[in-house]
This record gives sequence, structure tokens and C-alpha cells, in this order.
Amino acid sequence: MVVSHAVVADAVSQERQDITKGWERVKARLAATLGEAVFRSWIRPLVAEGLEDGRLLLSAPTRFIRDWVLTHYYDDLLRYWQMEAASIHQVDVLVRRKQVTSASASRPVRSEGGSDTVERNSTQVHSPSYDNSKAATGGKAEVLYTSFSAPLDPRFTFDNFVVGKPNALAHAASYRVAESAEPATGCNPLFLYGGVGLGKTHLMHAIAWHIRNTQPERRVIYMSAEKFMYQFIRALRSKEAIAFKEQFRSVDVLMIDDVQFIAGKDSTQEEFFHTFNALVDQNKQLVISADRSPSDLDGIEERIRSRLGWGLVADIHASSYELRLGILQAKLEKMQGVEVPPKVLEFLAHKITSNIRELEGALNRVVAHATLVGQQVTLETVQVVLHDLLRANDKRVTVEDIQKQVAVHYNIKLADMHSARRSRAIARPRQMAMYLAKKLTTRSLPEIGRKFGGKDHTTVMHAVRRIEELMISDQELREDVEMLTRMLRN
Ligand code: ADP
Ligand code: MG
Repeated sequence: MVVSHAVVADAVSQERQDITKGWERVKARLAATLGEAVFRSWIRPLVAEGLEDGRLLLSAPTRFIRDWVLTHYYDDLLRYWQMEAASIHQVDVLVRRKQVTSASASRPVRSEGGSDTVERNSTQVHSPSYDNSKAATGGKAEVLYTSFSAPLDPRFTFDNFVVGKPNALAHAASYRVAESAEPATGCNPLFLYGGVGLGKTHLMHAIAWHIRNTQPERRVIYMSAEKFMYQFIRALRSKEAIAFKEQFRSVDVLMIDDVQFIAGKDSTQEEFFHTFNALVDQNKQLVISADRSPSDLDGIEERIRSRLGWGLVADIHASSYELRLGILQAKLEKMQGVEVPPKVLEFLAHKITSNIRELEGALNRVVAHATLVGQQVTLETVQVVLHDLLRANDKRVTVEDIQKQVAVHYNIKLADMHSARRSRAIARPRQMAMYLAKKLTTRSLPEIGRKFGGKDHTTVMHAVRRIEELMISDQELREDVEMLTRMLRN
């Protein structure tokens, strides 16, 4: 007993030493690549904590530093660690917990493997054993299972999800799935779809966290379709396809993110479909996400597509100004002590419209800049710090934006943009919108025509000419054009 303890202790301290040395080398490379200022602010505060299943664990003193490092330096960190040990396939950054003084923690923090000084940024749904030697795990199925679920991001909870019109349905359905003790009636499968960075992954992780906290006996697997594919192919190669399938048998909730990635991959699709059917038949909950609706998933077999749409299909629409502002405010609240004037938040919500990830990135950049140079955040500094991002967002005016803005401006219904009504009160604004679409977007005349209820390109051309003519004589109309252009570009 005494001897084996000593051996284990030795092995552990040896590993620690290796990691500490490795970390020194990684830091030296990072300092050289990132420069002294960046290194001092973001990298030096990190501590190497350990290695677990090919995942290198670092810890950061604050959540903010952790988030910043993950969004900006993750690739560098991983690359340099891989130079130390090729087997490292992931780097996790945890938040070092401050000495707990009161017994009531504000939110439950799971601690695994006996370490309770850190809060993990990612944990596996099925608790892995810290000792990853084969002997310590419960057989092959167990090993596979633990390598199955992808890590969950602790920021992606329902608490941190801001609900607005564009995502209300997706949120409500996700919450319902998370709350139910069984597959949610009418929501199985739950199919979430929407463009990049609109919160699909966030909602899926939130479901997993919620179930873990409220119904820990339920087994949840969350993984990307890519990972599913990869695991499946690996299982086939190592003749463990049966074990692969076994993993899903014991699962209560299976979530597969970004299923558009299995399009065109025939054997993976087939396996996915079988797994999917088997689970539905066994009355298990499924949650699927994609960047488009089931019917738009090209390269996926019809029978799969139709089955994906059997439950509830909830789409997440492009964000609205109100939602973006709400998200910025919520995020800022979490960055304690950082002051950003409301005007700046409004400006960002107005300008960065492409997706929420970019919006968050913009706020992080603004705050980091202010912290680093010790300056207050003002509209002027924001424009300098974000000039590249702002320019990229400026360019993206869509025909839909134009139609909305023009409809509001002339107080007509949005539907009239697509109608064939010819009364002047409607036809003129419609011409205006066509004119602006031609001027402010890169769409062709036929494309614009299609977006106005399938009109011919000659109609669009006529509209453009008509507005140009009128602008010469009609000052009011000229001012309308200027104002709408300004509003749309801002
Ligand atoms: P997707 O999977 O749809 O591409 P993500 O779920 O990864 O998008 O979201 C991108 C980023 O935006 C994440 O950091 C996420 O937390 C954030 N986000 C998206 N929607 C919301 C929301 N409604 N409230 C708070 N954060 C959000
Ligand atoms: Mg995603």
C-alpha cells in the first residue's frame, strides 16, 4: 500500500514537473509571437494545472481573462502545446476560484477529480476519472463514452442567454426540453436552425447544463456532427462499431450540433439515421442543430430530412437591435467594474449586426483596449479600435433591411414591398426601395426583382431610373434618399 502510493505520488509529481517545464517553453514562444504587452496582460497570469485525456488544463485568475484568452489566443496555445506533446488535442482554461469565505456559493460549481480550486470551463457530461490509465476505467464502453461528449462551455447557460423576439421560440422550446423529465411532447426531435453565431450551440449547452443540474441521473450526450462522424469512422476502423452504438443506447438526451456537416457523407448519414431512429423509437430526446432548415439540407437524404422535421423546427432569426443591446448590457454586467457608456453600447448594437459572436468580440476588444492603455471607453476610441470590424459591417446592407426601413419611413406595410399594388402611395416607396437596393447592395436587377415578390428585372430598372429622374426635381425625395441611405449604412 505504502509503496504503491509512493509510486503514484512520484508519477504525479513527475507529470507536474514536465508540464511546468513545457509551460515555460510554451510561454517563451507565446511571448515572442504576441509581444511583451499582450503576453504580460493575458498569458502570464495563466498557470498550467495538469493534463487529462489529451486536454491540457490551464487556469486564469478571472473569468474575463479566461474568455479573452480563449477567444484570441486559443489557436496559438494549442499549437505550441502540441509542439510539446502531439497527443494534446485541446487546451482548457479554468477560472481559479477565490478563497471561498461564505458557505453559500452563488451558483453550483461542479468539482471533479477532487480538485475544487478551479471552476472548469469545460467538463464532460459523464465524469471522467482523473487517472486515465486503462485499468482505472470501467471497460471499453466506458472509455469510449467518456471520450464522447464534447466539453460544455460554462458561459452557455440559460441564465446567460438573452431572450428576444428573434430567438423566443428556440429558447422556449429548448427550456421545455431541459425541464421535462421525458422527451418533451411536440418537441422531439427539437430542430434548431439559424445563421452562424446566433446562439444554437449556446442553447444546446444550456439544455445540457440544466439537465445536469436538475436531473443528474439523466445521461446527456452533446457533440458536433463532425465529431460524431469522426468517432464513427474511428470506431469502424478499430472494429468497435458495436461499442460505438452501445454508447447511445444508454443515453437519455442526444444532441448533435451542426448536422449540415454530415451532408454528402453517406455512411455517416446512414449511421446517424439508424442512431436517430433507434433513439426516437426508444422514446429518447433528440436535439439537432443546423445552419438551415431540414428541407434546405442539401446532400442529406430525403428520408432523413423529413424525419428531422418531425418534431419542432425552431428557427433563430437574425438579431434585432433590442436583442443586441440586451446582450451587450448583460455581458457588461458580468465584467464587473468595467465602465462603458450607454452611448457606446447603443453604437455597437447599431453597427455590429452580422452576428452575436462578432458583437461580443467587439465589446471584448473595446474593453481590453481601454484596460490595457488605461483609457476610458468613448465613442471616439471605439471607432479607432474597431475600424476594421465597423467597415466590414457597414458594407452589409441587405435588401430586407432596405425594405423594412423604407416601409417604416413611408408608413406602409412591409408586405406591400412584395405586392403588385400600383397605387402611388405604395408604388413610390417600393420604387425607392428598389433604387436603394441597387445602390447599396451588390444584388443584380433580377435578384432584386425576385425579392420584391418576383418582379421582372425591367421593373427594377424602371424604378431606378424613375427615382433618379425625380431626384433632380423633387427636393423632398432627394432628402429621403439621403436620409434612408445614411440610416441604412449606419
Ligand atoms: P451558433 O452556434 O448559432 O453559431 P453560438 O451559440 O456559438 O452560435 O453563439 C455565438 C456567441 O454568441 C456565443 O458566445 C453565445 O454565448 C453568444 N450568444 C448568442 N445568442 C445569445 C443570446 N441570446 N444571449 C447571450 N449570448 C448569446
Ligand atoms: Mg454553433
